[in-house]
Amino acid sequence: MHRSIENLASASLDAVFPRRCILCGAIVGSVPWSPAPLCTSCERTLECIRGPRCGRCGRQLISEQDYCVECRGEEAALSRIVPLFEFRGGAARLIHAYKIGERVSLAQYFAYKIAQEKTFSDPAPGDFFLVPVPPRPEKVRSGKLDQVGVIAEALARFGFRHRRPLVRLPGGGQQKLLDRAERLKNASASYALAPSGQIPGRVVLLDDVCTTGATLEACAKLLIQAGAEVIGAIVLAAD
Ligand SMILES: [Zn+2]
Ligand SMILES: [Zn+2]
Repeated sequence: MHRSIENLASASLDAVFPRRCILCGAIVGSVPWSPAPLCTSCERTLECIRGPRCGRCGRQLISEQDYCVECRGEEAALSRIVPLFEFRGGAARLIHAYKIGERVSLAQYFAYKIAQEKTFSDPAPGDFFLVPVPPRPEKVRSGKLDQVGVIAEALARFGFRHRRPLVRLPGGGQQKLLDRAERLKNASASYALAPSGQIPGRVVLLDDVCTTGATLEACAKLLIQAGAEVIGAIVLAAD
């Protein structure tokens, strides 16, 4: 059963600790990402990825090459991933607070940040659909937050549309215990097209933390096989 943002907000810790910054505890005034509990000073210190970036995985480049070592010579269905943050420091704490602490109103901040990112949405976010990477079915059944889906919903106020043409299949091992080749194999067995899902014409995938990109690659392949054009992916952070 899909719970709405409103229900989650009232059920979460946000109701208990309103408007205190997750990172420093200061009272949060009016911010562009209200009601997300993040103050402007902490926001300025978050680990944003700055250029030059790898043309494929979006990680910061150390050398002046176009692609990072991992992406050089890689064949991939997904040509471009844009992470907002590096998965460390304050950015990692913020994402943990959202994912594990279920601080649902942080979705407003992530939506705000994604809306600022112009790689895919310039000139307008209206010419593609965001497709959130679906959560585990076990998670949905136990009533846990669909973090990625909630961010996609929060992006509606910035003019982004989304669809859910994918499902995650039950079972499947923990990705983090596998090596790269195993991850790719495991990921492609973990997702499928939703039986009643409408396949959007142009797609930008949305996910929270990208490690090897295996999940995004598997989702991109499914959508491409079904006739969609996948122009890239936006993720909160690259690990
Ligand atoms: Zn703060
Ligand atoms: Zn790369």
